[in-house]
Amino acid sequence: MEKTHDALPWALKNGRYLVAPIAGDKRDAELIADFFGESATDHGNAEFAHRACTSHYDLLAALEDVELRATQAGIAWGIAKKKKQTAFLLGELERLKAVARTAIAKAKHVPAPQLDYACKHCGSRNVFRDATAQWNVSAQAWEMVDVTDHADCGDCDGETTLQEIDLSKVTP
Ligand SMILES: [Zn+2]
Repeated sequence: MEKTHDALPWALKNGRYLVAPIAGDKRDAELIADFFGESATDHGNAEFAHRACTSHYDLLAALEDVELRATQAGIAWGIAKKKKQTAFLLGELERLKAVARTAIAKAKHVPAPQLDYACKHCGSRNVFRDATAQWNVSAQAWEMVDVTDHADCGDCDGETTLQEIDLSKVTP
């Protein structure tokens, strides 16, 4: 017998019943599990089971995406290095980090981080990094092919070091 499970998303009712929605049935939900008891641990167990089930396929998809993109980036690295076109790989790494961060945040049940960069000296977000652009004939545009570590602040009016900020942890 092939084992399957009810369609997601499952819901947590009254802090103890894990239920699945049923389409086209007289009942609106099917009981998956009943977490007995009213202690903080009982409710914690129910919440953890609900969170783990809800984020399972997103975590799996994120890991598969990361594995595939990391493999492709590894193959592309040698070619890009010869052409001095490493910026798109850096961009790809940033996207990988974003995919992983989003899935991790969902599994931890916390808001997904949203990053910004600021000047380490004055805190201004008006910051820049040096980059190299190459003319793309088919796109008829300059495309960024490399980003250096050199950063400038528009408010200090000089060289600076950048600081990563998680906007989801900053109170506005
Ligand atoms: Zn500054």
